[in-house]
Amino acid sequence: SGEPDLQFRDPEKAEQLTDKLEALMDDIDGRVTIMHVCGSHEQAIAKYGLRSLLPDGLTIRMGPGCPVCVTDMPEVDEAVELAEDGKIVATYGDMLRVPGTEKSLDDAKADGADVRVVYSASEAAEIAEEEDREVVFFATGFETTAAPTAAVLTADPPENFSILSAHKYVPPAMEVVAELPDTDVDGFLAAGHAATITGYGLFEEFVEDYEVPTVVGGFEPIDILFGLAQLLEFIRDDEPGLANAYQRCVTEAGNVPAKEAMWDVFETTTGEWRGIAEIPDANLVLREEYKQYDARERFDIDVDTTSSNPLTEECLCGDIMAGKADPDECELFGEECTPQDPVGACMVSSEGPCKIWLEYGGQP
Ligand code: SF4
Repeated sequence: SGEPDLQFRDPEKAEQLTDKLEALMDDIDGRVTIMHVCGSHEQAIAKYGLRSLLPDGLTIRMGPGCPVCVTDMPEVDEAVELAEDGKIVATYGDMLRVPGTEKSLDDAKADGADVRVVYSASEAAEIAEEEDREVVFFATGFETTAAPTAAVLTADPPENFSILSAHKYVPPAMEVVAELPDTDVDGFLAAGHAATITGYGLFEEFVEDYEVPTVVGGFEPIDILFGLAQLLEFIRDDEPGLANAYQRCVTEAGNVPAKEAMWDVFETTTGEWRGIAEIPDANLVLREEYKQYDARERFDIDVDTTSSNPLTEECLCGDIMAGKADPDECELFGEECTPQDPVGACMVSSEGPCKIWLEYGGQP
């Protein structure tokens, strides 16, 4: 129903769990770094001040879990070009202020382009039903939004509808981060909502290959603390295990029809995650059968993927997303870069770590 279940915010339970974390850290007797891979985790951690409850030596870092933040600049440039070329570009509200090389979609809109905010791919398809002009859905996000985009494409959308896919697929990005030499991650707290689609079974191979304990976690304070306790148990036992700490929403197989629709429509390809790396198999593009809905096929989009903006070169967003830096290490944080006038994508989205840290007063 969307109503929070208050038992997952119960202070007494939270205290029991933080005591448990303390005891586990005593047993481990060393430093532990856990990476979460989800903007909603960062939001909850900041909002409830969970970092201040953690025992000494236990650090939680954010990984590449904010889809807006990892959308690459040329992808934004493509959307801007389509909008300036007279197409109606529909996208999620968070995408409007994400800086492109020269302009954001918001800037293009201010200059007269028709850019519309939608809450879903199906809303974008509805706009196409009502309009004669071409409507391009700038499709961003992970599995949680890629599956609904796929559902719209399998339901015979209007002919003047197409998508510009910037959808990304999380597991390969976790592999890249797990391999980064200077990111010492002892365990992953995987994102509960992506796992409602993919199922937690998806992480089995990852855990086997990289030998890092991984726990799928929910988004209430108790869920997160519980997930951390499970991770610390694995770490104490030196066991690269996999657990599902979000059983009320996530199953081993996930949402099979949604998953099947997603893989019917999309396939993976190598793609750039802004500021992090070029990641094999981590971008989702339309399969041959759906190419008629691919804005990149339908229109001649010509963006320069090599140009860059000097100010954004100082942005540490990529390092933050890779778990190598915290937002307040960026010299522009809260000064030249604010939510009203963002330099990097991490300051734009409600899931962006810089915006979250600023909102909750520095180090949350
Ligand atoms: Fe980038 Fe702004 Fe965050 Fe600095 S504060 S890392 S410029 S988004």
